[in-house]
Amino acid sequence: MMLGKRAVVVGAGMGGLTAARALANSFETVLVLERDTLPAEAEHRAGIPQGKHVHALLAGGQRALDELFPGFEDDLVRSGAVPMRAGLDLRTERPGFDPFPQRDLGIRAYALSRPQVEFLVRRRVQEVAGIELRQGCRVQELVAREDGSTVTGVRYVDRDGATVTASAELVVDASGRGTLTLELLEALGQAAPEETTIGVDVNYATAVFAIPDDAPSDWKGVFTFAGSDGRGALMLPLEGRRWILTIAGRHAVKPPGDEVGFMAFTRQLRTPTIYNAIEHAKRLGEIVRFGFPASTYRHHEGLTTFPRGLLPLGDAICRFNPVYGQGMSVAAQEARALDRLLSDLAAQPDPLAGLAPAFFKWAAELIEAPWASAAIPDFVHPETRGKRPENFEQMLKYGLAMGKLAARDPDVHRLTAEVQHLLKPRSVYQDPALVQRVLAIMVE
Ligand SMILES: Cc1cc2nc3c(=O)[nH]c(=O)nc-3n(C[C@H](O)[C@H](O)[C@H](O)COP(=O)(O)OP(=O)(O)OC[C@H]3O[C@@H](n4cnc5c(N)ncnc54)[C@H](O)[C@@H]3O)c2cc1C
Repeated sequence: MMLGKRAVVVGAGMGGLTAARALANSFETVLVLERDTLPAEAEHRAGIPQGKHVHALLAGGQRALDELFPGFEDDLVRSGAVPMRAGLDLRTERPGFDPFPQRDLGIRAYALSRPQVEFLVRRRVQEVAGIELRQGCRVQELVAREDGSTVTGVRYVDRDGATVTASAELVVDASGRGTLTLELLEALGQAAPEETTIGVDVNYATAVFAIPDDAPSDWKGVFTFAGSDGRGALMLPLEGRRWILTIAGRHAVKPPGDEVGFMAFTRQLRTPTIYNAIEHAKRLGEIVRFGFPASTYRHHEGLTTFPRGLLPLGDAICRFNPVYGQGMSVAAQEARALDRLLSDLAAQPDPLAGLAPAFFKWAAELIEAPWASAAIPDFVHPETRGKRPENFEQMLKYGLAMGKLAARDPDVHRLTAEVQHLLKPRSVYQDPALVQRVLAIMVE
C-alpha cells in the first residue's frame, strides 16, 4: 500500500541510497537530490572525502543490503570484492595477543573500496522504478508549514543554478552532517536533539598498494591495534588485487602524508607484520590524510516534538568513530528498519503521524551496540574528551576478561564477532553462564 505520492531524500551516500530503496516500497516516487556529479564508475567524489580511506563493510550491514537489494552478495562477488571469513582472514594483533587466535567463525564478510560499494548500491537504486536520482542539486533548506508542525518539501539549487522547491510528504535528511534538520528546528523555535560527543581526535593516513606475488598466504588483511604509543593500522584487500592501508593515531599522534614518514610510521607499529608485507610493494596513487575530531550522537529519540514528514538518517543521527568501521552498516540497518516500519504503519489511519518517534526508537536500538562498543575502548585514551561511562574501570576489566575467554573458547569468539559485526545485540553478553565465566577470569 502506498503511503504518499512523493518522498525526497537529501544526499546519495550510503544512507540516502538505502533510504531511497526503502521509501520506494511506500511512495509512488522518490526523488534523491545529490549536490555532487556522480561518477559513472566506482570512483572517488568530492562529497565523500572519507571514501579514500579504508572502509570495512560489516556482515550485519551486508545482510541489511542483501535484504534491501536481493542478490546484493552476488553483486559483491562479481565486482571482485574479497571474501573475508571473520576470525580467520583478518589477522588481528592486539596487546597480549599477537595475533589473536585465527579461526573460521562461520561469518562471511567482504572487503572492497568505499567507491565500489557505493557504486554497486547506486546501480541497484537506479534500477528501481519510481526512484529518480538528480545530481548537481544542493539542498539549501527544508520547507515547513508556518506553524512548524509539518515539513512539506525542500528548496534546492539545481545544476543550472535555478532555485527549485520540491514538495514531498516525507523528507529524509541523509546529508551526513544533518545541519539542514538542525537549522530547521532552530528556525521553528523547536528543541534540538541532545548531543553526546566523544572527542577522539583520530588521524588517518592512507595508501593503496598492489598486492605482491609473494604476499603471505595465512591472512588477507591485518588489524594491528595501537599500543601505548597510540599507533595503529588496518590493512584490507580491495577489488583489483590491491591492499588499502590506513595508519592511524589519536590526538598528537598524526601519521605523516609523505612517503618517507608514512613508511617510518608503519615500521614503528607494534608488530612488523604490515611493514614487512608492504616494504617492497608498489604504491598506487597518493597518500591521503583525514582528521576526525569527535563521534556525535544526536538523541532524536528523546525529543517530545518533531515536525511530521521529516527523518534524519545515517550520519545525520550518529557519526561513529571510523576506526570501528560501523557507519555504512548502521545506515543500511536504519534503512531496513525504515522499510519494515513503513510497512507496519501502513494499516494505521494516518501512517506518517507516528513515523518519526517510532523510527527514532528503532534507530536508538540499532545505535546502542555500536556506540557502546566504541565508547569503552575510546575512553582508554586519557585525552579522550566526554563523559566516561559509569563503572568505566570495571567495564574495561570485564572487556579484557571477555577477550581472554574469546581467545580460549571458539564459541565465545564467535559471539563477540557476531556482536562486533552487528549481527547480534550486546544483550547476548548478559547470559548468566557467560557472565560467570568472564567474572572467573577477572579474578585469575
Ligand atoms: C575517515 C572515515 C573512515 C570511515 N570508515 C568507515 C568504515 O570503515 N566502515 C563504515 O561502515 N563506515 C565508515 N565511515 C563512516 C561512513 O563513511 C558513513 O557513516 C557512511 O558513509 C554513511 O553516511 P551518510 O550516507 O549518512 O552520509 P555521507 O556518506 O556523508 O553522505 C552524504 C551525502 O549527502 C550529500 N550532501 C550533503 N549535503 C547535501 C546537500 N545540502 N544537498 C544535496 N546533497 C548533499 C553529500 O555529497 C553526500 O553524497 C568512515 C568515515 C570516515 C570519516
